[in-house]
Amino acid sequence: MRACTKTKLISSTHPTLHLSHPTPESFVWNTLIRAHVQSTVLSHPSPLSVFLRMRLHGVEPDDRTFPFLLQSCHSLPHIRPGKQIHAQVFLFGFTDDPFVRTSLIRMYSSCGSLTLARQVFDEITQPDLPSWNSIMNAYSKAGLIGDAREVFDKMPARNVISWSCMIKGYVVCGAYKDALALFREMQKVDAGGVRPNEFTMSSVLLACGRLGALEHGKWVHAYIDKSGMQIDVVLGTAMVDMYAKCGSIEKAKVVFDNMGPYKDVMAWSSMISGLAMHGHATECLELFSEMIKLGVRPNAVTFVGVLCACVHGGLVSEGKEYFRRMDEEFGIKPLIQHFGCIVDLYGKAGLVREALKVVQSMPMEPDVLVWGALLSGSRMHRDIEMSEIALKNLIQLDPTNSGAYVLLSNVYAKMGKWSEVRRVRDLMEVKEVKKVPGCSLVEVGGVLHEFFACDDSHPETREIYMMLDEIMNRLRMKGFVGNTSEALLELDEEGKELALAYHSEKLAIAFCFLKTSLGTPIRIVKNLRICRDCHDAMKMISEEFGREIVIRDCNRFHHFREGLCSCKDYW
Ligand code: ZN
Ligand code: ZN
Repeated sequence: MRACTKTKLISSTHPTLHLSHPTPESFVWNTLIRAHVQSTVLSHPSPLSVFLRMRLHGVEPDDRTFPFLLQSCHSLPHIRPGKQIHAQVFLFGFTDDPFVRTSLIRMYSSCGSLTLARQVFDEITQPDLPSWNSIMNAYSKAGLIGDAREVFDKMPARNVISWSCMIKGYVVCGAYKDALALFREMQKVDAGGVRPNEFTMSSVLLACGRLGALEHGKWVHAYIDKSGMQIDVVLGTAMVDMYAKCGSIEKAKVVFDNMGPYKDVMAWSSMISGLAMHGHATECLELFSEMIKLGVRPNAVTFVGVLCACVHGGLVSEGKEYFRRMDEEFGIKPLIQHFGCIVDLYGKAGLVREALKVVQSMPMEPDVLVWGALLSGSRMHRDIEMSEIALKNLIQLDPTNSGAYVLLSNVYAKMGKWSEVRRVRDLMEVKEVKKVPGCSLVEVGGVLHEFFACDDSHPETREIYMMLDEIMNRLRMKGFVGNTSEALLELDEEGKELALAYHSEKLAIAFCFLKTSLGTPIRIVKNLRICRDCHDAMKMISEEFGREIVIRDCNRFHHFREGLCSCKDYW
């Protein structure tokens, strides 16, 4: 009680000389505020109203009160109460408290005001490490990765949080190669001897997975083992995801099995999605049953994996059944991704009309993925009218989708509607729609190489094209005719028939033939869907040259071996 009166006296005369020793009373109130911040029950009074009651009782806030209170302001609608708390911080003279300052930066950035977050930071005469980290993180969370890097580079010192946040920032915005480059930099001696932790490693693994950089991923795995880092459920899940996305589903399974009995729903879901992506439908559905048997409750993510498995396996009635159980048995309301899977399921199975009915009956507006799914089914079964419907909607939702314009003009050409063909082409010119270049990525000797369709930027371009010609000649000798004469609808988004020979995955294959020894499996990650011509060529290459080829396109994995593909030509 006495301590409290003393604090009050000093603070009323010298707000900046505030002594912030916690008192028994403030401790109790702080605990109460914290409990309300952590509570998810909406009917509870807000932490701010607890603070007001604290003040009504004449209890002074201490250095712990404000950080707790500021934590309760974490999204746009909280900016007003956030500012009011800031005013109280000022009033009670806590503006120089480092913990309070970082909390303020974090609060403004979570509430979407980067300017105010920056202002708080700029008012600090000598920012400490947590303040630097907070402002860097604020930029990164706002998607301003360049600004975040600028702050990172200016930091007088960095700890593992600084490095991890910057790496994660790159991963979140899709700059996976930058994430890996920064991780390499972190290993250098002049990085200040900062050692990565589990948080860093899971971001790095995520980057490897997205890139399909298996060599990098394996190295990270070895590093984790060597450093004695505990492979907890989070890190384990990241590792399962990495191996699955890099095409090594067997290794993913090994890591998953080694994770022991305490796997959470995320771990199960990542293994389930991995199996689905690789087209191991039966194994995937078995794993799902096992998970249910063990009492792990599935969530929306799990069901995306399960439904994907049904799509890739062509299991229509099973897919319908899981879709039903999802809501009825597990109380999970289907999200747009689940509807997308069902549209894909019907479309690929040739039930294109049913697929359209699903689109029309969805409780939410269909997005590009849903229309894209309808399009891929319609293309596969050469349903011209349905393709037109899907394409028109795709263009409406995303007027920059170059592939959609190309395909739509092909559809009209097929229908003989030449004036429409002209109109679409004109539209493309007016809107200056740029084509998304097809890009394939391969990792050779731990280095990532990127190839674009008709690319001549690689230093070894000449050798690559010569090798490709040699490969294609051998295929032709064995009777390969290619698929260039196929129906217009079959044309790839990448366009012209002439370009078929030089699609990026073929360049990547030629490069791997130059750089790797006989019999080495080849792994390629492609940003678009693999076209039928390339697919046919890959099958034949796998047989003629005895090479195992694994291609991850934007839909799924294709494992080519001895002239066959794991997708059974169904993708
Ligand atoms: Zn192709
Ligand atoms: Zn395939």
